[in-house]
Amino acid sequence: MISEAGVPDARVREVHVYEVPLRTRFRRIDVRDGVLVRGPAGWGEFSPFWDYDVTESRRWWAAAEEAAFVGWPDPVRDRVPVNVTVPAVGAEQAHAIVTASGCRTAKVKVAEPGQTPADDLARVEAVRDALGPGGAIRVDANAAWDVETAAARIAELDRVGLEYVEQPCPTLEDLVALRRRVDVRIAADEVLRRAVDPLRVDLREACDVVVLKVQPLGGVRAALRVAEAHGLPCVVSSALESSVGIAAGVALAAALPELPFACGLATVALFTADVSSAPMLPVDGALPVVRPEPDRLAAVAADPGTDARWRARLTEVLAA
Ligand SMILES: [Mg+2]
Repeated sequence: MISEAGVPDARVREVHVYEVPLRTRFRRIDVRDGVLVRGPAGWGEFSPFWDYDVTESRRWWAAAEEAAFVGWPDPVRDRVPVNVTVPAVGAEQAHAIVTASGCRTAKVKVAEPGQTPADDLARVEAVRDALGPGGAIRVDANAAWDVETAAARIAELDRVGLEYVEQPCPTLEDLVALRRRVDVRIAADEVLRRAVDPLRVDLREACDVVVLKVQPLGGVRAALRVAEAHGLPCVVSSALESSVGIAAGVALAAALPELPFACGLATVALFTADVSSAPMLPVDGALPVVRPEPDRLAAVAADPGTDARWRARLTEVLAA
C-alpha cells in the first residue's frame, strides 16, 4: 500500500528530507542528508550513508520505524555524558574545538587520507593541552591501518595518554593480533555495525569496548541486545544524525544498565544547522534525555534532486 508520502508503507504519513552542510569535511562528506518520518510515537530518522546498499540500509530503516511507531525503552538516567568530536583538522583548530565544547572527553579522528602521522600527533597533543591531564582522549582510525602500522602509530599517539583506540584495523583477526601487541584498549565499531549479524561477531580477544550505533544496528532495542550479547563496556556513538537521530542514541545510552564512558553523541556540533531550534548540543559535557521537535524542517529542506533521491531510496528499502 502506498502512503500519502508516496512510500510503500501506509503508516508513513510525513516524510521530510533534510540537508545540512558540515563545518569541516568529516567521514569524507561535506553535507549530511537524510529522511525524517513522523509516526504515532514521534519522529524517526532514516539516514544511511550513501555507501550503504539496500540490504544494509534495512537496519537503518528498522531504527526509524522503532522511533516513529514504537518508541524507546524507559531511561535509567536523565543525562548522558558525551565527548567532543575533533575532525582531522589542524592543531590550532582542534584546540579551539575542544576548549569551546565544555566536554572532558575528546574523540579525535586520525589516519585521514592525505595526512601524515605528524599531523595526527600534533592534533592529539593540542587536544591534550586543551583538556589538561584530567581529560580523556580516544582516537578513531576508521579501520585505516594494518596491524604493523597500528602498533607503531598507537605507541606514538599514546604519549598523550589514550583512553582507547577505535577500530584501528579492518578485520576481527587484525584486532585480535593487534590487541596482543598494545596496552591501549581497543574499541570495535565497523567490525560490528557492518557485520551481517552483529549478535554473532566473536569479539572475545578482539576488543575491550563495543561501539553501539542505533541506526546501523537496527534500533535502540536491537542495540541493547547487541550490548547484552557481548557483555563488554559500551559506548554509544552517532552515525552523524540530525538531532532527531541523536535523540535515539541518547535513548540507548540512557537505557544501558551501565555507561562507563562518555558517548560520541555531540556530533550536531559538526553541522552548520540542525532540524531543531533546540539542537542536541552538550551543556557541561552532557546531553539531556529528551526528544527535540524538528521545527526547522523548511530551513534545512533538501534541494529537489536530493529530496527525490531519498524518497526513491526509502521506497527501495521498504520494498526490499
Ligand atoms: Mg568509529
